[in-house]
Amino acid sequence: MTDSMHLPPGDWPVMQPGWVWLCGAGPGDPGLLTLHAMNALMQADVIVHDALVDDRILDWGNPAAERIYAGKRGGKPSAEQKDISLQLIDLAREGRKVLRLKGGDPFVFGRGGEEGQTLVQHGVPIRIIPGISAGIGGLAYAGIPVTHRDVNQAVTFVTGHDRQGKVTGVDWAAVAKGSGVIVIYMGMKHLAAIAEDLIAAGRGPEEPVAIVSDATLPHQTVLETTLATCAADAETQGVGSPAVICVGRAALLRQALDWQSLAMGTPMRNTDPLSLGRPVEDG
Ligand code: SAH
Repeated sequence: MTDSMHLPPGDWPVMQPGWVWLCGAGPGDPGLLTLHAMNALMQADVIVHDALVDDRILDWGNPAAERIYAGKRGGKPSAEQKDISLQLIDLAREGRKVLRLKGGDPFVFGRGGEEGQTLVQHGVPIRIIPGISAGIGGLAYAGIPVTHRDVNQAVTFVTGHDRQGKVTGVDWAAVAKGSGVIVIYMGMKHLAAIAEDLIAAGRGPEEPVAIVSDATLPHQTVLETTLATCAADAETQGVGSPAVICVGRAALLRQALDWQSLAMGTPMRNTDPLSLGRPVEDG
């Protein structure tokens, strides 16, 4: 714990030797860490973390803690999942206080469920600390609410990663029909094919799409585009990973709710981004 870091008074859980706490670090901005995550950082003697965990967050941890990088990033060399789980078991059995820190929420496309299962099956006690997921918090930093009464009653979080060409575990036609707003994680690589499938399933080519990269970080970028042009636009603009893709009219709300630009003095672009023709509070 750094000297200036204190948790508010409370009955904070004590990390016991031999335990693994599976914890979300949020999408990037260290301020989005939970107090339980902070409590864990202050006590852990080993922190096993992903590529998506910001260094500033690790620096808040116990300075004596060992840091182990166990990143998994598409296309880059990464530790095998099995090895990570076994390493966590070994560390726990050595009597360490193990913090497994993952970007976003550990149970949202983060393999936290799998790691937790393996640990429990090997008799290692665990605690789960949720985090703010990029598909919610990251979009919020871009001024995009994942639900809005005038837009959607449902939102689908889907991964674009496991896709192999046209053969995929995701039923994109069902997703297209079932959900006004679609939030795609790990979708950049196959964006062209995904967009094509969504259009083939009846989504409008002109439908708004926002791609938020490095969400919540100082270098966050947002590409506003459409379903038909998103893949080409992303390529032209060099949109990088990690990125979350929001498909649906929720993306339009950024025209009013881009709070970061508003804070810098940029005027609101559109007072009625959904073209309701009435004040939103009259809904
Ligand atoms: N457990 C994480 C998701 C891990 S999968 C969570 O709950 O957020 C990794 C994917 O998450 C990335 O490919 C990207 O789609 C998304 N992601 C994570 N951090 C992000 C960020 N700061 N900005 C944009 N997307 C992010």
